[in-house]
Amino acid sequence: MRSVSVFGVTGSIGAQTLDLLRRAGGAGAFRVVALTGGRNLAALAEAAREFRAEVAVCADEGGLAELRERLAGSGVAAAAGAAAIAEAADRPADWVMSAIVGAAGLVPGLRALRHGGVLALANKESLVTAGPLLMAEAAAHGARILPVDSEHSAIFQALAGEEIAAVERIILTASGGALRDWPLERLAGATVDEALAHPNWAMGQRITIDSASMFNKALEVIETREFFGVEPGQVEVILHPESLVHSLVGFRDGAIMAHMGAPDMRHSIGYALNWPRREALPVARLDLAQVASLTFRAPDEARYPALRLAREVMARRGLAGAAFNAAKEAALDQFLAGAIGFMDMAGVVEATLEALEPEMGAANLPRGLEDVLRMDHLARQRAGEIAARIAGGR
Ligand code: NAD
Ligand code: MG
Repeated sequence: MRSVSVFGVTGSIGAQTLDLLRRAGGAGAFRVVALTGGRNLAALAEAAREFRAEVAVCADEGGLAELRERLAGSGVAAAAGAAAIAEAADRPADWVMSAIVGAAGLVPGLRALRHGGVLALANKESLVTAGPLLMAEAAAHGARILPVDSEHSAIFQALAGEEIAAVERIILTASGGALRDWPLERLAGATVDEALAHPNWAMGQRITIDSASMFNKALEVIETREFFGVEPGQVEVILHPESLVHSLVGFRDGAIMAHMGAPDMRHSIGYALNWPRREALPVARLDLAQVASLTFRAPDEARYPALRLAREVMARRGLAGAAFNAAKEAALDQFLAGAIGFMDMAGVVEATLEALEPEMGAANLPRGLEDVLRMDHLARQRAGEIAARIAGGR
């Protein structure tokens, strides 16, 4: 029986992962090791009971008493706090879903890789902040990282049986998010609710806003470079409002392999769950006659400063990814709190990168996890200060 753990089980990707596990036989077909969540203790406890998990862990230590109460009599152990989540990753499992949002997903993912097995990686922040560490850890332990981000799953599938040396370019598609058709001058005044109205994908709150700002695509560009080992100049972004082509790979003979399907994350999650086989998945089938046409256009850089910043981060590499991601997370917190405007987020990230330039040292690779975590902390702090100045001036 295959053993599985799901980190971030109460989120959007976590719930869709459970849906697939349930359809594949649930607790009778998998040995569920660890399930972790954030504040939604009811959902965490319910999932842990249903799947008869060995342990359920919530992020907040203050939630432990309630979690224990909710699990009373179930035989599921309860734990709480970031250290307990990392320890849950020390329990071996054949297949681990990494679906915590943000840099908090890095440590559990890294620790899970030590057992070999498969790490299904939805947490793109891991590769952005510490790509070389993650890839080295996987190689050292014979573990396999399978991308779950729809674009990267698409690229991975387009590359099946191909040599990476034959790849000329990788083209990431982007829906453009909720505000893609807004006039540029209105963007500064966009509210949280407006940025949350994603046209095609139903996702967690943070990634949905990152889609509108294209910070999500910026993270994905870096993720592509780190995961597939291509040069920064080989990664392109194209706006594709229909979200039916999930990404494309161009080869040196001029061929382009595109991956298409309905916008449903259960395809990418299911592909990683069943890899290297393909099994039936409960996703809508495309009716191409109904689709009729697909449209593409170049992204407007003035609207999406995040894409330019991603290129700077890739040129710098080293600890720049950790600084970029942490500054982005801090800026997003301030936007969600109503302290800064939508377009201020890019300003905060850019100013943070500039301020931390001396701290990044030479264009070095991160020496270890401590360096990454230190830069993450520093960048959050600096971004918070910069955001506070902007908020004060508003
Ligand atoms: P979400 O906000 O819906 O869920 C996030 C999960 O992480 C929840 O279980 C939450 O409780 C947990 N969590 C949040 N902060 C935590 C912390 N500090 N410590 C421990 N756990 C914490 O997010 P999501 O949309 O499911 O996205 C999860 C990851 O997958 C992100 O990295 C996102 O970029 C990526 N991703 C999501 C989608 C999507 O369709 N939702 C698509 C591609 C990639
Ligand atoms: Mg994506």
